[in-house]
Amino acid sequence: MGAEHRANGGVAGTQGAVSAPEDFAGAFDREVIPSWDDRGWLLGFLKDRHVPCPRCGYDLRNLESPRCPECGEPLCLRVGLSTPRFGWLLIAVAPGLFSGVCAALLAFPLYRFRNAGPGNGPPAAMYLAEAFGVLSCAAACVLYRKRRVFLGWAARRQGLAASAAWLVHIVAFVALLASFV
Ligand SMILES: [Zn+2]
Repeated sequence: MGAEHRANGGVAGTQGAVSAPEDFAGAFDREVIPSWDDRGWLLGFLKDRHVPCPRCGYDLRNLESPRCPECGEPLCLRVGLSTPRFGWLLIAVAPGLFSGVCAALLAFPLYRFRNAGPGNGPPAAMYLAEAFGVLSCAAACVLYRKRRVFLGWAARRQGLAASAAWLVHIVAFVALLASFV
């Protein structure tokens, strides 16, 4: 099974039709176990049709079982959007991930100077900011984990949720700055 057996592209109109369960948005998905009916549709679709394995690029033409013979990835037949729309999801998780990075960077000085004595240690607001960053990052991870629910919402609702996430972070940031004034 060498490079000569790799497909050099899907047949027009079939892109995204065959997909491994683990794609950009599927890193945490459980393995998809196709039913016998699904297998029949998948194998029928691939009969005499050149379609690359979405994981390794191996040509799946005339596949005999719902698993890539090259990389072993289980495969299923799906209906998908021709252009997946992850924009609002990315916008919604971005402030949480950024807050998580800030919390990680802040953790060391908070720990290092925790016993600096009255008036010399980090102000209480910094500890609150640290807690907010950790919680915010955890919320972003939960949102990513539950992304299928989010992606199932109408674009307007996704936009409102993403805007709410940003608003909460902007308010928290302004409150942090105000605590030093
Ligand atoms: Zn493969």
